[in-house]
Amino acid sequence: MAVRLNFAIMIAKIVALFFFLGAGAFLSAQPGLPADSLLAHVKELSSDKYEGRGTQEPGNLLAGEYIRQRFENFGLERFDSTYVQPFSFFNRWQKQRYDGQNIIGYLRGTESPEQYIVLSAHYDHIGKQDDEIYNGADDNASGVGVLLETARYLSQHPPRHSVIFAAFDAEELGLRGADHFLDEPPVPIGHILLNMNMDMISRNTRQELYVVGAGYNPFLKAPLEKLGEACALTISFGHESPEPAQSDDWTLASDHAKFHQKNIPFLYFGVEDHEDYHRPTDDFERIMPAFYVQAAGFILESLLYLDEHWESLVRR
Ligand SMILES: [Zn+2]
Repeated sequence: MAVRLNFAIMIAKIVALFFFLGAGAFLSAQPGLPADSLLAHVKELSSDKYEGRGTQEPGNLLAGEYIRQRFENFGLERFDSTYVQPFSFFNRWQKQRYDGQNIIGYLRGTESPEQYIVLSAHYDHIGKQDDEIYNGADDNASGVGVLLETARYLSQHPPRHSVIFAAFDAEELGLRGADHFLDEPPVPIGHILLNMNMDMISRNTRQELYVVGAGYNPFLKAPLEKLGEACALTISFGHESPEPAQSDDWTLASDHAKFHQKNIPFLYFGVEDHEDYHRPTDDFERIMPAFYVQAAGFILESLLYLDEHWESLVRR
């Protein structure tokens, strides 16, 4: 009996320990993305091997393949037999026809699988000019790094709504990948709740990250402000036309513009232009790792919050 009692106490202690550890793990489970993996993606995609990722150049195809392989490894679903969405277009400035390819995968939502959040980042950059490689570390290997690590994270923590991961091509040639995605969407346009677009998110000397787009859909602002207060970075709102004081309007500055033009709410995450913007010096060594990891965490938290609370936010 005594032995049994001791045994029962031991079992109770083990159970209690499990609960304690479980609760501890839960409390310490601040959503975040691993710094080493984030930085490794940026370093790789902005290395000379990818030759600046100019649309239809070999380095761009290599970058597309890098992304596709990871989508496959993370178990993302695909809309067709492949993650690759090819398109072609004529560019008036270059007077040239281009072949581009978006890399698209998704994760099915557990509660509203027919409703989609599109997380996007363009992976192309401006390639080589006069034998100089424009590596585009901030623009926009940084966005692609967060796209990939968020895909990995959500593959292990399934979202309520379906999430489409869109690595767009030919942004630098006039938002052509996003344009094609919305012209031939893999899901009905009316089923897309929100676009969250990332373009240049890895450096700012004032530690400031902008969120653009909440001005068009004010229900998005309060939750992001709240999340911003807990973020080590300064989260600023603006650069959008409903804000009359802002002269520098970023509404049409990147791929989110194409969602906006279809009346789909968008949130664009990005930094002010810096001295290396669209210069061959936009290199991995110039990004700010701590800033980047914080920005990644904030974007992930925003996505998790909006996925969790979308219906109640819209109803308000
Ligand atoms: Zn860009």
